[in-house]
Amino acid sequence: MDLKYPERAARFADEVRAFVRKELPAEIRDKVQRRQKITPEDQRTWQRKLCDKGWACPSWPKEYGGPGFDVMERMIFDNICSEEGAPSALPFGELMISPVLFAVGSPEQKAQLLPKIRTLEYWFCQGFSEPGSGSDLASLRTRAVQDGDDWVINGQKMWTSGAHNANWIFMLVRTNTEVKQQEGISMFVFPMSTPGITVRPIVTMDGEHHTNETFFDNVRVPKTALIGEVNKGWTYAKLLLGHERTSIARIGQSKRELRRLKALASEINITGAPLMDHTPFRDRVAAVEIELLALEITALRAIAKGGSPGVEANLLKVKGSEIQQKLTELFMDAAGPYGLPFDPDRGLHDGNEPIGFDEAASLGPNYLMTRVVTIYGGSNEIQRNIVSKTLGL
Ligand SMILES: Cc1cc2nc3c(=O)[nH]c(=O)nc-3n(C[C@H](O)[C@H](O)[C@H](O)COP(=O)(O)OP(=O)(O)OC[C@H]3O[C@@H](n4cnc5c(N)ncnc54)[C@H](O)[C@@H]3O)c2cc1C
Repeated sequence: MDLKYPERAARFADEVRAFVRKELPAEIRDKVQRRQKITPEDQRTWQRKLCDKGWACPSWPKEYGGPGFDVMERMIFDNICSEEGAPSALPFGELMISPVLFAVGSPEQKAQLLPKIRTLEYWFCQGFSEPGSGSDLASLRTRAVQDGDDWVINGQKMWTSGAHNANWIFMLVRTNTEVKQQEGISMFVFPMSTPGITVRPIVTMDGEHHTNETFFDNVRVPKTALIGEVNKGWTYAKLLLGHERTSIARIGQSKRELRRLKALASEINITGAPLMDHTPFRDRVAAVEIELLALEITALRAIAKGGSPGVEANLLKVKGSEIQQKLTELFMDAAGPYGLPFDPDRGLHDGNEPIGFDEAASLGPNYLMTRVVTIYGGSNEIQRNIVSKTLGL
């Protein structure tokens, strides 16, 4: 079953699809569809195409250089770009720090940062989590101390994804130790080239380098690096995390994966019939498809409500991440033994001949990496706690 959008929306969907098919380089589309690594240059190439068309940063209003899409257009745009194999937008700049800048950034910060976030000249990473401060983020200990007109930052951040590609960071730091934890946190943005920052890679169990630990040793930043008011960082972080959680739902990506799963299961033969025709497997695929459709409707309702994402963001994160994991499990079951070959030392995406079938080599690493989606952006257990608290359960 497909959601039926109004005719105007269907025309917009055709326009987006035609644009992506014409402008997205085949090499990048193939990489996305085969779950291969997208390089920063690939990401920037696609971003340039979006900028030329006026569609970069699809969530932004016109006044900041976005396309000013309405709810329906945004949903359609995101879904079709993902379905057609365009690289996912990087969340940190467009979706996370920008809404905070819209709300509380100074005119100078908006003028300096937003145009370069839009073109991806400024590539952000997120410095929130620390060793010992993940779910309990408010306990973070990285300190910023005022020194004349500057702030001096010392401490360590953990899991700073993409910090090795980023040239800017937004981070939470402790600026007051005398008050309730949440009331002594501030948010800063500054270039990663600032002296005193060291980025060390963490290789995850898919054998890839996505994330890092980042150290701050007397990092001196000007007072213009502070976002909004001092000690109000926790309030801004909540706004930002709502946007992160909505984006982690990845509905378009799951639709693309579901389509590929069905295609693969129709090609694989088990005891003389396509796997897709075997009722137990078919039932599992149908169950995920129904959940995905329900998620899409829920996301549309959440966006239609307007304002900053509330508890819906937590719900979308939980369901969206569970669906992504279920899809990778179905892929592994469909692939059987062909999903197993995996040698991190050899390099996952080195262009060697696949064993079994074309996309088999990417399934194992993708299955492993997708375990993270129920952890990052705030673990699903924590999301459930927030939902139950909000509902007064
Ligand atoms: C690959 C990866 C990339 C990441 N990228 C970033 C990034 O770019 N920037 C960033 O700032 N952070 C990032 N994170 C950090 C991520 O947000 C944290 O890992 C996450 O919030 C969980 O925190 P933790 O790892 O400290 O686990 P913990 O908080 O120690 O939790 C461990 C387990 O206990 C459970 N738990 C904890 N407290 C409760 C509770 N009160 N009730 C029920 N269960 C509970 C959790 O659900 C989890 O299962 C990333 C993490 C990973 C793994």
